[in-house]
Amino acid sequence: MQLMRFPSQHLEILEEVDAACDELLLPELEHYLARRFDEQIPIILNRHSLLGIPIREEYGGRGADAVTYGLALERMGQVGMGVVTFVDVHSSLAGLAIQQWGDPSQRETYLTPSVKGEKLLAYALTEPEAGSDPASLRMTFEEKGGRYVLKGSKYLISNGSVADALLVFAYPEHSREGMCAFIVDSDAEGFEVPMLLEEKLGLFTSDTALLEFNDCIVPRENLLGPKGRGLQVAYSALVNGRLGIASGCIGVLEDCLNQVVERAKERRQHGKEIGKHQLVQKHIAAIAMNLEMARWPTYFASMKKAEYDAHPEDLGLRAAVDHQSALAKRIASRLAFEAADHAVQVFGGFGYSVLAGVGRHFCDVRVARIYEGTDEIMDLKIASGVLGREFEAYR
Ligand SMILES: Cc1cc2nc3c(=O)[nH]c(=O)nc-3n(C[C@H](O)[C@H](O)[C@H](O)COP(=O)(O)OP(=O)(O)OC[C@H]3O[C@@H](n4cnc5c(N)ncnc54)[C@H](O)[C@@H]3O)c2cc1C
Repeated sequence: MQLMRFPSQHLEILEEVDAACDELLLPELEHYLARRFDEQIPIILNRHSLLGIPIREEYGGRGADAVTYGLALERMGQVGMGVVTFVDVHSSLAGLAIQQWGDPSQRETYLTPSVKGEKLLAYALTEPEAGSDPASLRMTFEEKGGRYVLKGSKYLISNGSVADALLVFAYPEHSREGMCAFIVDSDAEGFEVPMLLEEKLGLFTSDTALLEFNDCIVPRENLLGPKGRGLQVAYSALVNGRLGIASGCIGVLEDCLNQVVERAKERRQHGKEIGKHQLVQKHIAAIAMNLEMARWPTYFASMKKAEYDAHPEDLGLRAAVDHQSALAKRIASRLAFEAADHAVQVFGGFGYSVLAGVGRHFCDVRVARIYEGTDEIMDLKIASGVLGREFEAYR
C-alpha cells in the first residue's frame, strides 16, 4: 500500500536495501542461534553499496537524504535490530560525525574507506561509571611527544571488537573540562578488547564489547573536531543515531504486524482461524495502532532532519531536529517493544522462541529504550525542549 509520496530524490536506493535485507534474513537467523556477531551484515551491505547511505557522494557514499536513509533503516528493522544497530553505529553515529567534524585528511583516511567496507566504525562514549551522564566520564588523555596518550575503559560498545576505527571521548588529565573526541585505530598500541558482552538479553547478532585503553597512542592528527568540543561532537552524533533507531523500530513494528496477520490467518484453534477470535483481533489492532502512532513522529523527524541538512546554518531547525529525534525514539521504541509483546502473545508458545521472528524482536527491541539515551533521558530532553533551556534538569 502506497501511504504517501515522500519528498525525496533517492528512493531508488530502497530497491537495493530490499534486496540486501532479503539476503540478510538467513545469516541473521543462523548467527542469532549461534549467538555471535553477524559478519555477513557488512559484507552483504557492501555488496549493495549500502555502507554509506547518508554519506555524501564526494566521499563515496550514496548521498541519500534523511528521509530515504530513515526508510532504509526501517526496512532493515524488519530483519532485526542487530542489523539496525550495526548500520546506525557505523553510518549515523560514527560516519556522519566524521563527515561533519572531520578534516579532509580524516575523511579520506576513515570516511571513504568506511563506505567501501574497508574500515568498520564504532562510537565509544559509555563507560562503566558514565552512561546517561557522559559529562562524568573518566577516560583521560595526555599530550606527550606530539601524540595523545589515552587511558581508561569504554563499556557496552556496539561494533567494538569488529571496528577498525572508533570514535573515543576523553578529558584532559586532571581536568573535568575540555573533553575531546579522537579517532582511534583498532591496531593502535595500548588498545585492547578484553571482553565481549555475551550475556545480553538479545541482540545477539550485534557485537557489544568492553574496551581498554592502556596508554593508548593516538596521533595528533586524529583529534576529531576542535579541541575541547568533544561533548558537542558526541551529542551531535547522538541526534543522528536516535533518528536511525526510531526508524529501525518502525521496521520492527511492521514486521510484527506482517507476521501476526499471517499467523492469525493460518493457525486454527476452537474450530476457526485464531484471527477470528475477537481477543486475538485486539492484539492485532494494538500493533496496527502502535505502528501508525510511531510512524508519523518518526517520518516528521526525518523530514525535519532533511530540511536542516539543506540549511545547516539554521539553529532553529537544529533545535527542532534534536527535539523531534528524541520524541521519535522515545515513542517508536516503546511502541515497538509493546507491539513485539502483543505479537509474541498472538503466536502463543511458538512466539516464546527465538526461532520465531517476533520472539527475536521482543528480546532485541527492548534495548532501543536504553541505548543512545534511555526513556528517562529522552523525557528530560523532550520536557526541556518544551519548557526552555533554563528548565534543563541537568547540565
Ligand atoms: C546492547 C547495547 C549496546 C550499546 N552500544 C553503545 C555504543 O555503541 N556506544 C556507546 O557509547 N554506548 C552504548 N551503549 C550504552 C548505552 O548508551 C547506555 O547503556 C545508556 O546510555 C544508559 O547508560 P547506563 O547503562 O550507564 O545507565 P545509567 O545511566 O546508570 O542509568 C540507570 C537508570 O537511571 C536512569 N537515570 C540516569 N540519570 C537520570 C536522570 N538524570 N534522571 C532520571 N533518570 C536517570 C536511567 O534512565 C536508567 O533508567 C549500549 C548499551 C547496550 C545495552
